[in-house]
Amino acid sequence: MDMDLDKALAERFGFETFRPGQRDVAQSVLDGHSALAVMPTGAGKSLCYQLPACVLDGTTLVVSPLIALMKDQVDGAIQRGIRATCINSSVPWPEQQRRLRELSKGAYEIVYVAPERFKNEAFREALAQTTVALFAIDEAHCISQWGHDFRPDYLTLGEVREELGAPITLALTATATPEVQTDILTQLKIREARVVVSGFERPNLFFDVQHTRSDEDKLERMRQVLARFRGESVVVYCATRKQVEEVRARLHHAGFLVGTYHGGMSDKRRTEMQDAFMSGDIPVLIATNAFGMGVDKSDVRAIIHYNLPGSLEGYYQEAGRAGRDGEPSYCLLLYNPNDRGVHDFFIDLSYPTPDVIMSVWSELRQYGLGSHSIGAEQIANHINRSSKKTNVHSGGVTASLKLLKQAMHIDHGWRDGFPWVEVRDLSRTRDLRVDWDQVALRREIALRQLNDVVRFANISECRQLQLLKYFRAASSFGNQCHNCDQCCGVPDLPEQPVNPVPDSLETLIQKALSGVARTRGRVGTHLVCAMLRGSGARVVTSHQLDQLSTYGILGYLNPEQLMELFDVCERHRMIIRDSKGVVALTDEGVAVMCGENEPPAGLVERLRRKLQPA
Ligand code: ADP
Ligand code: MG
Repeated sequence: MDMDLDKALAERFGFETFRPGQRDVAQSVLDGHSALAVMPTGAGKSLCYQLPACVLDGTTLVVSPLIALMKDQVDGAIQRGIRATCINSSVPWPEQQRRLRELSKGAYEIVYVAPERFKNEAFREALAQTTVALFAIDEAHCISQWGHDFRPDYLTLGEVREELGAPITLALTATATPEVQTDILTQLKIREARVVVSGFERPNLFFDVQHTRSDEDKLERMRQVLARFRGESVVVYCATRKQVEEVRARLHHAGFLVGTYHGGMSDKRRTEMQDAFMSGDIPVLIATNAFGMGVDKSDVRAIIHYNLPGSLEGYYQEAGRAGRDGEPSYCLLLYNPNDRGVHDFFIDLSYPTPDVIMSVWSELRQYGLGSHSIGAEQIANHINRSSKKTNVHSGGVTASLKLLKQAMHIDHGWRDGFPWVEVRDLSRTRDLRVDWDQVALRREIALRQLNDVVRFANISECRQLQLLKYFRAASSFGNQCHNCDQCCGVPDLPEQPVNPVPDSLETLIQKALSGVARTRGRVGTHLVCAMLRGSGARVVTSHQLDQLSTYGILGYLNPEQLMELFDVCERHRMIIRDSKGVVALTDEGVAVMCGENEPPAGLVERLRRKLQPA
């Protein structure tokens, strides 16, 4: 088919240029080839079928999983002058009938339906009289059991496609996993397809992997990076909640203003943290992978991975939250070969072997039919007590319970803070309906994904190129991105700000002490520091510390320098902290503050070295 795609783009859509991948996809569909388009969210996948729909003779059938979002899509298409509609259960029956009649007359260019619609007889009859020019499947990863959003209704689409006479098909998804890509084509029974993966290249991100020997080593490198990005937004991803809290404590102690975000926090607290990060009140957020979905902060300057991520998809998604505004940004992976062990441990627990699942089942059968107040922890204890040889972890029991629930042998949950399990039948272990192959397969996939991350961290090849290859995306830059540790060695980070200290050290100490005096023993050193620095953080304003005459008088010191100042003041007994960390002046502190006593000479010397580097 020969036509000017640019012209159609401008006239029908009012866009000047195609986004990466769009032309390729539209063109191959128009040339009569099925295609799979993998592009990140917001890259413009709809255009890939809407444009051909305007041009092709016949109807474009679009399968989309969410009825709630269909109306918006239809409205959007109609605005562009496309004859579009949707047929679903939210449409009153008489109107559905009218639309079906129109459909069989070929009145629509685009018809949106949910996958379950193909079970409907009236719809199938109308379809039989229609020419389906293009069969488009949005969110196509829903067809794959390996995807993160599997929907059984999608599984029928392969047969539906054959019944429609195998029309030109376009599958669209933002999920880049190679396994899922292949699975989508297999499930849809598409033998030959052009696969277009695009929009994944991120030229403004500097990818850096640093090999470390210990957590201490990681923290030190992280401190250096954070000092360079002072005042900018940075996210530090950790593998577990516990790790988040540990890193928070360490960075807090080092004088950084940090927040946390993980699944163990209350919804309210999480929202507060997210708001504070979005507004810039809290520049550094330490988080698990619970943070990020739907977060749209364009000026995140660095993403640090404190632990090895479990997959490159996860890694790229998280690291990709840096530099959405297109400005140079930094992605650092702190790698320690030992990190792998933690993942192996969790994979073992998440995909238990048949003997673990069977021993959990044997234990549950002993309780008999009905509901029992028992949870994974106790079940694990019972199993381990009854047999010296077994050592089952409660995490493995939790995973087993999930699988037994999927197979409908049990139900389980929490009531008033206590776990319960309901045994629904008393099948013998050999009659369990657990999908053993599926568990083994998922375990294998998890291990493979982990191996891929480990390889990424160890291989000497352009990082960006490795990532693009992994996602099967083409690179526009050849073999070197010239913007990663492999291509350039060290990253070009912002200069560490030098802040000349305008006061004598004696004056500095006096100012710090007067800050403590003004807060009248109400808060800890951290808030005193924030106040002295003139921080606009909400914690400072909510304590009305911004009203004090000492607010901002040490604004030229950075948090580490201030913490150093307080550390030595404390060591020389000018200030004391109570068990809650609230800080107050000692008699000696009062005397130094008022100029009655000189600060100790050793202290001044030490501070000179710390605060005024040569
Ligand atoms: P996806 O489905 O990939 O998440 P959409 O199809 O919803 O993305 O498109 C995201 C936005 O990008 C829409 O507002 C769309 O109008 C816009 N868009 C798509 N293609 C182009 C283009 N070539 N030029 C400018 N804007 C575009
Ligand atoms: Mg979309």
